[in-house]
Amino acid sequence: MKTDIEISQSVDLQPITSIGQSIGLKEDDLELYGKYKAKIDFSTIQRLAKGEDGKLILVTSINPTPAGEGKSTVTIGLGDALNEIGVKTMIALREPSLGPVMGIKGGAAGGGFAQVLPMEDINLHFTGDMHAITTANNALSALLDNHIHQGNELGIDARRVIWKRVVDLNDRELRQVMVGLGGPIQGVPREDGFDITVASEIMAILCLASDLEDLKSRLGNIVVAYTFELEPVTVSDLGVQGALTLLLKDALKPNLVQTIYGTAALVHGGPFANIAHGCNSLLATKTALKLGEYTVTEAGFGADLGAEKFLDIKVPNLKKAPDAVVIVATIRALKMHGGVAKASLTEENIPALVKGFANLQKHIENMRSYGLPVVVAINEFSGDTQNELTTLKELCETQDVPVELTSVWANGPKGGISLAKRVIQVIDEQENDFHSIYQSGMNLEDKIKSIVTKIYGGSDVSFSKKAQKQLATFEKYGWDRLPVCMAKTQYSLSDDPEKLGRPGDFMITIRELVPKIGAGFIVALTGDVMTMPGLPKKPAALNMDVDQNGQAIGLF
Ligand code: ADP
Repeated sequence: MKTDIEISQSVDLQPITSIGQSIGLKEDDLELYGKYKAKIDFSTIQRLAKGEDGKLILVTSINPTPAGEGKSTVTIGLGDALNEIGVKTMIALREPSLGPVMGIKGGAAGGGFAQVLPMEDINLHFTGDMHAITTANNALSALLDNHIHQGNELGIDARRVIWKRVVDLNDRELRQVMVGLGGPIQGVPREDGFDITVASEIMAILCLASDLEDLKSRLGNIVVAYTFELEPVTVSDLGVQGALTLLLKDALKPNLVQTIYGTAALVHGGPFANIAHGCNSLLATKTALKLGEYTVTEAGFGADLGAEKFLDIKVPNLKKAPDAVVIVATIRALKMHGGVAKASLTEENIPALVKGFANLQKHIENMRSYGLPVVVAINEFSGDTQNELTTLKELCETQDVPVELTSVWANGPKGGISLAKRVIQVIDEQENDFHSIYQSGMNLEDKIKSIVTKIYGGSDVSFSKKAQKQLATFEKYGWDRLPVCMAKTQYSLSDDPEKLGRPGDFMITIRELVPKIGAGFIVALTGDVMTMPGLPKKPAALNMDVDQNGQAIGLF
C-alpha cells in the first residue's frame, strides 16, 4: 500500500482554473496562488450570495480514540462519491495547523484515495492564512505592550493582560514567558505566554465573520486585558481593529483546491475544537452552499464537541442547518470504547464491539435530539472481520438508523457510492426539524447545564468558586447571554478521558470561563486545556525531507 504522499504525488492535478470552471467560476472569480490553489474573490462571494443554498451534510464521529476514525477521509470520499453519481458537490474543510503536522497528528488533508491536493502545500504553508493570523495576533500583542510602555492612557493592569502571543508550532518552551525584560527602554516587564495559532481568538473570528465589516467589528470587540478598576479593555479601545483587518483581508477569502478525483474543495480556517468551535470558515461553507447542489463539511473531534458547536455556534451565524448528519465510526474505535487495548485491536471481539456501540448510540440520539436525520458511516479498515461488520449493522438496525459501509480510503469514490446514495435518500425522505438544544435567551449557567445533561449524558454541573464569581461579573459586563463553547476532553462524553463508551451518572465541573467576545462566545473550561501542544519524543518531523527538485518526502 502506498503512503498518502505517494498516492498524492502520483496524481496529475488539474489546473485550478479548470476546477473553478467545473463549479461555474471564471478565471476572474479566482485569485490564483500558483497553478493549483486559488482564493475566491469577495466580489464573487457577494454575487453568489444572491443564489439559493444547496443541501448541507455535516460529517462528525464517535468520541475519537487512538485507533483512528477518519472523519476527514470520509468527508472527502463522500464528496467524491456524490460527484461520481452525478450530483454537483462541494467539500468544505479546515486547514491543517503546522504544529501537529510536525508533531504527531499527521496531515489533515484526508488519507488513502480520499485526499485534498496538493497535500504538501495544504499541510505546510498553503496560501499563508496561518501566517496572516499569526501576524495579526502578534501585531495586537506588540500594539498592546506599546500602549502600556508609552504611558498607558487606558490604565491597563499589566498583570491582567489576557491576550497571548501565538506561533503555529508545537513549542512547549513558550507556554509561559516573561516579556519586556532588560530595563525601562525594553518595555514593561510582564508575564506572557504563547498559544498555537489555531487557538488564537482571531482564528475563531475569521471562521465566523460574514464579511470584512463583520470581521472588523468582531476584532474590535476582542477583550485583551482589564484596567486597574477591573473594566474590560477591547481592541476598539486601542483603536487598532482597522490595522488588524487589513492584515487579514486576504486570509478571509476561502481557498479553492481539488481532491484526487477533481472534486472542488474549499479548505479554509481551522479553529481548535476545544477552546473554539472547530469547523472551517463560515464564508467557505456559505460559498460552497451556493456553488454545489450538495456540500459536505466536517466538525472537529466527536459529535459531543464538534457537532454540538457546529449546531449551536456556527449554524446561528450561517443561518442554515445541516440537512443530514453522517456519524463516522470504525469497528476498531468501537472495540476500544468497549474496553479493548490498542495492541489487541486486530483480534475479532464481538462482545467488546457490542459494549462499545453504546458510544455511537449516544451520538445518534444526540444528533436526533436536534431534529436532524442521521446516517452512520462505517469507515472500513482492512482488519475488520465480516462478523464484526454484520454485528455493527445489526446494532444500528436496532436503533432504526441507516448505516453504510464505506471504503473510500482504499477504493476512492467507488467505495462511497452506497453511502452517497443513502445520504441523498435520507435527505429526500426524512423530515428535518432542526432546533437548538438551548434557547439563545438562556443564561450561561442554563446553557452549560443543557449541554452537559442533554449531550454528554451527565447528571449535573458544578461551578468552581472562580467560575461562580465570573458568572456574576460576566452578567455585569453584559456577556451572560452569549453562546457557550465547551472545552472538554475529546476522548470521553464525560470530562474524564479514561471513561470510554457511554459513561453515566457523572458530574462536570466548570473550572473557569474565558470571554471570547470577538468570536461571540464564552469558553467553559472543564479541565486543563492545552492551548500550546508539545512535541512527542519522536516527532513526525524526523521522517520529513525534501529532494533536490523540491518534492516533499515523508509527509505521511
Ligand atoms: P480524522 O479526521 O477523524 O482526524 P482522518 O481522516 O484525518 O481522521 O484520518 C486519520 C488517519 O487515518 C489518516 O492518516 C488516514 O489516512 C487514516 N485512515 C482513515 N481511514 C482509514 C482506513 N479506512 N484505513 C486505514 N487508514 C485510514
